[in-house]
Amino acid sequence: MIRNALDHGVMIDIEVTSGIITAILPATGGFHAGDVDAEGDEVLPGLWDEHVHIRSWAQMRSRANLLPADDSDAVVEILRKHPTDGVEPIVGHGLRWALWTSPPRISALDAVSATRPVVAFSMDVHSVWVNSVAAREFDVVDIAGDSGILVEHDAFRILSRMSDIDTDTMDDLVAEAFAAAKAQGVVGITSLEMESLTDWDRRIAKGIDLIQVRASLYPERIHEAFERGLRTGDSLGGRVEMGFLKVITDGSINTRTAYMHAPYEGENSTGVLNTEVTELERLVREATDHGVTAALHAIGDKANTVVIDTFEKVGVAGRIEHAQMVLPEDVQRMARLGLTASIQPAHAVDDRDVAEQLWGDRVSYAYPMKSFLDAGVNLILGSDAPVAPLDPWHTIEMATARTADGRPAWHPEEALTRGQAIKASARTTIDVGQPADLIFVGPDGVIPFE
Ligand SMILES: [Zn+2]
Repeated sequence: MIRNALDHGVMIDIEVTSGIITAILPATGGFHAGDVDAEGDEVLPGLWDEHVHIRSWAQMRSRANLLPADDSDAVVEILRKHPTDGVEPIVGHGLRWALWTSPPRISALDAVSATRPVVAFSMDVHSVWVNSVAAREFDVVDIAGDSGILVEHDAFRILSRMSDIDTDTMDDLVAEAFAAAKAQGVVGITSLEMESLTDWDRRIAKGIDLIQVRASLYPERIHEAFERGLRTGDSLGGRVEMGFLKVITDGSINTRTAYMHAPYEGENSTGVLNTEVTELERLVREATDHGVTAALHAIGDKANTVVIDTFEKVGVAGRIEHAQMVLPEDVQRMARLGLTASIQPAHAVDDRDVAEQLWGDRVSYAYPMKSFLDAGVNLILGSDAPVAPLDPWHTIEMATARTADGRPAWHPEEALTRGQAIKASARTTIDVGQPADLIFVGPDGVIPFE
């Protein structure tokens, strides 16, 4: 029995049997041996981060934070000061070069180190800035050129090379990231990392199971789920379930590769479609036949149109990851088709200046959140860690405040209430019959219910 928990201003007792809520009663003030005393803390459903690149995040927690840097010199300054062991590459994350007045030069990063690889990932990991040593080591000297900037597939390739550390070390980092997440009230994540199911088999065997995981696969490895007959939601063992088929359909705004109906402001480019329409449809159809739900990355307005068309054509519901710029009529179609918008509120706040510059007036329908709810679209929230921190309270704050730097809220009409943001960050509710995935929030911080 949980005693003295605060729920919407009312003190309640919650009876839990075998991990399920079996009764909710007005608090009696009584207490028996074996009871948990919530001491008046607010009880909330445990939080989910619905979009996590868990390996990248686990590694990133030790990398230099480049978010505060708004020019080349500032990046160099942060990387120079970042404590490292003197042997390993110097790695930063959170690079934002889209708005720099002078373009990145490889020589600037060579000044950080002429003997060790220096690698600076953009927030969205769709681009990376490398020094000459790193360019040689990754065999991309020609592509890196004078700028040292690599985008899209070349950036992903470097990310996966950098992630290629010893398996046990990586698992330890994942376990640490799980512990940190749990301490913040996270009970589960949807992992959209480029991994194999065998990575999760191994972690399950090691008992790395502090939180629930929905393990997703990319097209190259989706056959693993098909071969095992795993449908979305089926257990892999431990606390890990089969997640989704993740397909990247377009790029990102910061690299001007998000796929748009009309060109970027002052440019001819409309971005890129990474997966052909026919291939996208084939993938979604095949996943559907095997009971696997698709989670399709779409950022630009045309990418979202393409993805919605695909779900409509196949006749199945699924998730759109990011859904950053969605035509108002497409928001309505998403509701009609029962699609889920998997949104990262921190992106709206982090991208506001870039979005205004590159999308102009079109930002009036960019980064919708409230519009999704109003239309009846299923809304779920996440961080896209490592793009934003795996911290649901940061996610909730960005969803409600839509500002992070003291400026007025950006398009406050799209802000959520705290209650809406929490609901979109949870898979359970505080009701009889629901799993007791509960957390307590009080003056001492967040305490997960065990
Ligand atoms: Zn992502």
